[in-house]
Amino acid sequence: MRGFDAAGHTAAAGTRKDSVMTRKILVTSALPYANGAIHLGHLVEYIQTDIWVRFQKLRGHECWYVCADDTHGTPIMLRAEAEGISPEALIARVHAEHSRDFAGFHVAFDNYYTTHSDETRFYSEDIFAKLSAAGLIEVRSIEQYYDPLKKMFLPDRFIKGECPKCGTADQYGDACESCGAAYAPTDLKNPYSAVSGAAPVLKSSDHYFFKLSDPRCQAFLRQWTQEQERLQPEAANKLQEWLGVAGDNKLTDWDISRDAPYFGFEIPGEGGKGTGKFFYVWLDAPIGYMGSFKNFCAKKGLDFDEFWGKGATTELYHFIGKDILYFHALFWPAELEHAGYRTPTKVFAHGFLTVDGAKMSKSRGTFITAESYLTQGLNPEWLRYYFAAKLNGSMEDIDLNLDDFTQRVNSDLVGKYINIASRAAGFIAKRFGGALLHAHSNERFHADLPGIAAAAEEIAGYYEGRDSARALRRIMALADQINQYVDKNQPWQLAKSAEHEEQLHYVCTVLINAFRLLTVYIKPVLPKLAQRAEEFLNVAPLHWADAGHLLPPAHLINAYEHLMQRIDPKQIEALIAANRESLAPVAKPVVAAAEPHSPQRHAQHQQHSEDSVQAVANPWEPYASIDDFAKVDLRIARIADAQHVEGADKLIRLTLDLGEGAGKTRNVFAGIKSAYDPAQLVGRLTVMVANLAPRKMKFGLSEGMVLAASDADGKSPGLFLLSPDSGAQPGMKVK
Ligand SMILES: [Zn+2]
Repeated sequence: MRGFDAAGHTAAAGTRKDSVMTRKILVTSALPYANGAIHLGHLVEYIQTDIWVRFQKLRGHECWYVCADDTHGTPIMLRAEAEGISPEALIARVHAEHSRDFAGFHVAFDNYYTTHSDETRFYSEDIFAKLSAAGLIEVRSIEQYYDPLKKMFLPDRFIKGECPKCGTADQYGDACESCGAAYAPTDLKNPYSAVSGAAPVLKSSDHYFFKLSDPRCQAFLRQWTQEQERLQPEAANKLQEWLGVAGDNKLTDWDISRDAPYFGFEIPGEGGKGTGKFFYVWLDAPIGYMGSFKNFCAKKGLDFDEFWGKGATTELYHFIGKDILYFHALFWPAELEHAGYRTPTKVFAHGFLTVDGAKMSKSRGTFITAESYLTQGLNPEWLRYYFAAKLNGSMEDIDLNLDDFTQRVNSDLVGKYINIASRAAGFIAKRFGGALLHAHSNERFHADLPGIAAAAEEIAGYYEGRDSARALRRIMALADQINQYVDKNQPWQLAKSAEHEEQLHYVCTVLINAFRLLTVYIKPVLPKLAQRAEEFLNVAPLHWADAGHLLPPAHLINAYEHLMQRIDPKQIEALIAANRESLAPVAKPVVAAAEPHSPQRHAQHQQHSEDSVQAVANPWEPYASIDDFAKVDLRIARIADAQHVEGADKLIRLTLDLGEGAGKTRNVFAGIKSAYDPAQLVGRLTVMVANLAPRKMKFGLSEGMVLAASDADGKSPGLFLLSPDSGAQPGMKVK
């Protein structure tokens, strides 16, 4: 039998150390665009990455986490202009805001930098020069819309006009927000520049292309994307689709330059002269990972080549959203490979965040910024805990269900874990002078609470695989076990008689030790809480190896102060109200167009425009899964009223009754004016998409969509509203 002696735990820690090799790991999160606030959707990724990095550090590995603001491109340039400041001033301000928000959620980058840096410029030019030398850069003339007033080429999102399919006015150059059609900007009717309002003209210009279609890139990517665990299985499948089968080249070249005026790095020409062309923001954004790390190496005295040089044996991981997989699993490794650098060890993609089952919405107050969450006084670790409890390492979307959020934090985190400390601390302080039992044994502890210490490696495995959901389920199961031990031993009963003094002391010592072990396990998710727990426990910062031993005998703990409050549901209501109120009117079309230009927007934009590389052979692909279909809530609706909309050529305003009662109806704008007279619609039943995210239109809020048939290209006249057979009632589900 071994007591709580120094020799005992030294031996245990020693064994552990020998069995784990120290790894060298570099980790990145995608770079947030320097044109808007960090919101809860962004935080999924930074919290996920931060948990993983903290876990690696607790395990004793050398792990560095770098990131930067993504600062270049037309939206930044125009936003700065609209605000009457320089782009440099804009990105400096946003950098400070982003840094504040990340720190507020305990996202601990080792370096948070900017892509507008000498280092990123250096590697952009270097990679471009090496790809040129390898024959993988080509100049081609392309024709594009040009704003003759503003004297600039217009990205798709800065061209607006009438949708070629449904005729809705004020639609962007890549897709219609009314009918969902995707098209080229040249398909828009009556196009105009969102920057100046001028009618754009077509103009040609030379662009630089990265030759992704080159057989070398194809062959490399075919191998790289299918290598063992480089990508999650669902991502590897997606890549397989994009690449197509060998011999059937599906990748097209990538346009990596933009014309002046542009905020970015000018592409160098012959003899040190500029070309007047700039690197497209998506070329230098991932290179920003290298730039940030290079900057960090200089501060820290690290060897850059050890992490980025060809053949490096260190590990490199990119955490990204699934929408920018294209950039990180195709362009990026192909560039690195052919410019003589190492490629990523793995790319980890995650899904999107929904709130209460729907897309984040400004009108509903669920488009929640990081800043508002913190200024409303909500604890950032509540959100870290909840996200961690949802993230399982897959690309599935995760939902922040606000009731579930309150419930889980209050009943699991506070009710189960924190409660263990509070149940024992009072007795230790009042009855035993703050000291644990003077003699006690590991074996008895492990017999009383079997498996608690032994779970360390199992839980570590879940964190390593980014399945924090499973790690937390395991930790909460252990907490249940410990709370059952409390209920069985009833310290409050033991405290009633002096003869049970020793037993009371023993039980409370077991509980404090058990709480300490759970604190080790939960520390990657809740770093601040762990720090306060360490102060209470009167111990040095805990590492993972500390799970290998218990506290020494007669160890003194500090007075207990409550470690975490429960969520008051009123705080959630106030948060939603604050975000609903903060809905700022969008004054300028420029800013409106610029706002969604996050990396996500880049990605969507990418797939609809000049860089499109997806040749779709089968018109039914991509297939919708049964789960995709189940997300669409189709309901029978009665048209309670129908009205013309002043100033709209195509729209009818429908008031729909879904049988929700209490006079509750939905307002929907439907592009069916060409086929129906409002009067003939009143009273009839139709089918509507009931859970479509509400959308603010020029004429008001549209809260759904009715279904109508038309021919595939929408060109022949005829539009036919769907009707159910007689007997159907408003509110019935269609499936
Ligand atoms: Zn349309």
